[in-house]
Amino acid sequence: MAKVLIIGCGGVAGVAIHKCCQNSEVFEEICIASRTVSKCEAVKAQLEGKTKTKITTAQVDADKVDEVIALIKKVQPDLVMNIALPYQDLTIMDACLACGVNYMDTANYEPEDIDDPEWRAVYDKRCKEEGFSAYFDYSWQWAYKEKFEKAGLTALLGSGFDPGVTQAYCAYAQKHLFDQIDTIDILDCNGGDHGYPFATNFNPEINLREVSAPGSYWENGHWVEIPAMSIKREYNFDQVGQKDMYLLHHEEIESLAKNIPGVKRIRFFMTFGQSYLTHMKCLENVGMLSTTPVEFEGHQIVPIQFLKALLPDPASLGPRTVGKTNIGCIFTGKKDGKEKTAYIYNVCDHQECYKEVGSQAISYTTGVPAMIGAMMLLTGKWNKPGVYTVEEFDPDPYMDALNKWGLPWQINDNPALVD
Ligand code: NDP
Repeated sequence: MAKVLIIGCGGVAGVAIHKCCQNSEVFEEICIASRTVSKCEAVKAQLEGKTKTKITTAQVDADKVDEVIALIKKVQPDLVMNIALPYQDLTIMDACLACGVNYMDTANYEPEDIDDPEWRAVYDKRCKEEGFSAYFDYSWQWAYKEKFEKAGLTALLGSGFDPGVTQAYCAYAQKHLFDQIDTIDILDCNGGDHGYPFATNFNPEINLREVSAPGSYWENGHWVEIPAMSIKREYNFDQVGQKDMYLLHHEEIESLAKNIPGVKRIRFFMTFGQSYLTHMKCLENVGMLSTTPVEFEGHQIVPIQFLKALLPDPASLGPRTVGKTNIGCIFTGKKDGKEKTAYIYNVCDHQECYKEVGSQAISYTTGVPAMIGAMMLLTGKWNKPGVYTVEEFDPDPYMDALNKWGLPWQINDNPALVD
């Protein structure tokens, strides 16, 4: 039915590619393109003969708009799935506009170089006006809204799990469960154990930037910012057990605050073990999380990129990770004039994911919704010109697809609340 260009071939893309190949009726043909083409060829070799989807590969540096344009012109896809890094969001959106092709991604834009004066000036102004200082925010991609509208193209932002599925849960709660949602707590629990003292479950650079940023939440119409990891709660997660979790800034809070009418508070919590936090603090204290290049024996090196080279590749954690993830949203609000609560969540088993697609559950819980978001666009269920996040579309076909394609969800009507 459709041809898709997938840019990026890391942990998340690997899962999305497997899922596209399970869904050959929709994904008739895919081109996997990335900076290191040998990784694309390796995934192609794994899947060929086991799927009806036709697979081709290509090399591309997606930081360069011209290269992406040339590739899109050659491949002629119906959609570009950006599963590279957030650094490439804008160049790939520009290329999609130039070629008249729909776009989707799994994470909002952030710059690779946070010392870039042009970006810095916009960032400093935004921090002052909005009141949060994480490096990632939606303003850059929302600025493309009119261009996509005029071109009659759809850009779907952030179709992973969080962002992504968590916003579909919010749209579902708004549509079916509540007349008024008052509070949303997004809880991201990884109860998995990979046996390493320290490793990240997705791209280390993006992950460590996210986790070391000051935390923030939305309350009564404005942002409240707190020092990183300074709000801690304990929660007893279904099928995982008791875990410590910490309040983080997270990108979907920004869009949900705009799109869930009258919501009073939105918070995001993620679980971390003590070993992870101690390692991260130590690496931060010695400067290893810095993105500013340093001179070392005649070479310029970026500390966090060097650290990435030392850490286990997240895509290699699959065979050794055991345990489960539990990610979902707790809602409070009103229905038919009465107070109501609901908790929508998914539990995913690391080893089950490994058996199915050769990956741990973090890549799985992101790669499956990437395929589903693409399917929503390709089957015409979610097409409207402009730039949108997941909660701005009808959640029903997406929620049905989650049940069908490996991320079934459940609802608890009487959850323990987070204080
Ligand atoms: P990886 O680092 O495993 O993979 C990134 C891929 O992008 C690699 O194949 C890399 O190529 C490629 N790439 C990087 N730069 C370029 C470039 N300039 N041109 C072309 N290709 C490039 O990352 P993950 O798979 O862990 O993460 C992928 C995305 O998913 C990220 O944006 C991440 O933030 C997002 N994510 C979203 C989540 C959600 O729930 N919404 C959760 C987890 C991740 P190379 O092999 O050469 O390095």
